[in-house]
Amino acid sequence: MAEERKTLEQRNQMTDIERLRHSAAHVLATAILRIWPDAQFAAGPAVENGFYYDVDLAHRITPEDFEKIEAEMKKVTKENQVFERVVVSRAEALELAHKGRLGALGERPVPSKFKVDIVEHIPEGEEISIYQNNGFMDLCAGPHVMRTGNIGAFKLTHVASAYYKGDEKNPQLQRIYGTAFKNKTEMDAYFTMLEEAKKRDHRKLGKEMELFCFDDDVGPGLPLWLPNGTVLIEELEKLAKETEFAAGYDRVRTPHIARENMYLTSGHLPYYAESMFPPMEFLEEDEEKVKQQLQTKLVGVTEQINALCSPMTLGFVPSSDLPKEKFDEYNALTAESAEIQQKIEGLGQRYYLKAMNCPHHHKIFAAVPRSYRDLPLRLAEYGTCYRYEQSGELFGLMRVRSMQMNDAHMYCTEEQFEAEFNGVNEMYLKYFKIFGIDKYLMRFSTHDPAKLGQKFVDQPELWKKTEDMVRNVLIRSGINFVEVPNEAAFYGPKIDVQVWSAIGREFTIATNQVDFAVPARFGLVYKDRDNTEKTPLCIHRAPLGTHERFIGFLIEHYAGNFPLWLSPVQVRVLPLGDEEPLVAYARGIQAELRAEGIRAEIDATNNNIKGKVLQAETAKVHTMLVVGNRDLEAGNVSVRIHGKGNLGAKPRAEVIADIIQAVKERRA
Ligand SMILES: [Zn+2]
Ligand SMILES: [Zn+2]
Repeated sequence: MAEERKTLEQRNQMTDIERLRHSAAHVLATAILRIWPDAQFAAGPAVENGFYYDVDLAHRITPEDFEKIEAEMKKVTKENQVFERVVVSRAEALELAHKGRLGALGERPVPSKFKVDIVEHIPEGEEISIYQNNGFMDLCAGPHVMRTGNIGAFKLTHVASAYYKGDEKNPQLQRIYGTAFKNKTEMDAYFTMLEEAKKRDHRKLGKEMELFCFDDDVGPGLPLWLPNGTVLIEELEKLAKETEFAAGYDRVRTPHIARENMYLTSGHLPYYAESMFPPMEFLEEDEEKVKQQLQTKLVGVTEQINALCSPMTLGFVPSSDLPKEKFDEYNALTAESAEIQQKIEGLGQRYYLKAMNCPHHHKIFAAVPRSYRDLPLRLAEYGTCYRYEQSGELFGLMRVRSMQMNDAHMYCTEEQFEAEFNGVNEMYLKYFKIFGIDKYLMRFSTHDPAKLGQKFVDQPELWKKTEDMVRNVLIRSGINFVEVPNEAAFYGPKIDVQVWSAIGREFTIATNQVDFAVPARFGLVYKDRDNTEKTPLCIHRAPLGTHERFIGFLIEHYAGNFPLWLSPVQVRVLPLGDEEPLVAYARGIQAELRAEGIRAEIDATNNNIKGKVLQAETAKVHTMLVVGNRDLEAGNVSVRIHGKGNLGAKPRAEVIADIIQAVKERRA
């Protein structure tokens, strides 16, 4: 797929750090040219967490070259060169490119070939600008920082290959990646965070803690949840169900497959077909019978045709001496044969695995006549969806092919919209608090009026109305959000929710969408007060995202040290010895906890206490209750919390009551 050119609007929205990183790409090019003057540069944008520059160069750049390149870059930033912007005409830009002057330190004997192509593709009427830092001149729309010295710290990270403009028909270039920061402290913090993220890698911890696994026979991207991981899933579902129940949601259940026709109605097909698993095709029982009858009929017709044909051509050509009426008969028979064949082809069913739950829920809305009194109707389901992700895109739990979604669809009137949408936001804030998510951002994506009827459904008034409503709620509720034009869904504005883990890494966990087009496609209506039929608005929301992605996030966020309520093993009782009265005391504690729904175990092995504690700590058991003979006599337990150490002896009843309370409150 070709890489899209950044619009002026997107450029104006470049953040300070993106400006700085893009400027660092110019510094990288300057440095490379000082070492390899014939390097040809293509594009050098800021990307997530850094920047890159694509270069065509006979020398294969490897990480061994980084030190040398970075040393030159250091000189360029030390020289504190000014970034100067000059607006040029198309003809001037082309002349510079032909002289080899763009993406170069001076004129060169060969043209700057990629820059020539880029200039030629700049849309008519768009301003063309050149950025210069000392001798290095580049075609660039900007923006940049003031001086090379503003780039306080940088580092080259890796090199990859990339096709020019992302098109495999084009030449392959070397893509050199780096990152840059305002200062060294920020850069060090970033690399420390990456190190920490490696230790907390959900794939690594998922394996060590026996949370989930993948199996080749099951298929790539299809996680199997082991008992410990299933505990996480069920606790999350319990949380969601309680919260949604309190907020007036109704639970529904829907199958994992549906007929092709539904996805044609919803518009997922044919547009979304690439992301869906290929269809299952088969004949229903009655169709099987019809097919047999048709086939028998076809054999009969074919025999009749053959009788009219010369034996030499096996029924393809009628005999040349056929009289007129026989010839008409021949024509009628071949037409009948074609018709029967068409009927046979038309038999059969196509089913798709569902890629989203919405269409099924719309059908539930439509299942009974609805009146304004039924609204808002909130249908919730932890629905399993299947998406065909390219195998190269699959990544642990973050990119999978089967996912269980914290889904719900809220059908409401325009008057109810604000309150409903606000309710969704409150639910998010409640969840953030429970999971200790301190940093989040809502990305509010709106439409672009210029693309109505193409990228966005052509209903300008509804766009304005719904976007205004969403914006008002976001502003009024004081929620942290940014507005991003031109990124809405086809059928309405959307909100992507980004959260940061405890170590400061960003995750997109959920999307909310306002939908004013699809309910109409499904013919969803309710009877209003005035007895007229109206189409409801629909809000798609999934605050906890999918189990896969959210648990992937939680594993990193907690480094696998889940709070008590989420811990696969909440309590392990460790008797200091294996003599009977002590073990019985320990079993009594375990039984009391399990009767209250607490996941409590006992370590009745004959390991010494040091070994038992070590094992429990390694398994990240949340609470360890050590009991010795002195505890037994006093009715105490000695409490030890994973990662926090010994809290000392306390009365048994008090400890048990506190554990139950902490789980109930979902204490952090
Ligand atoms: Zn630039
Ligand atoms: Zn939906």
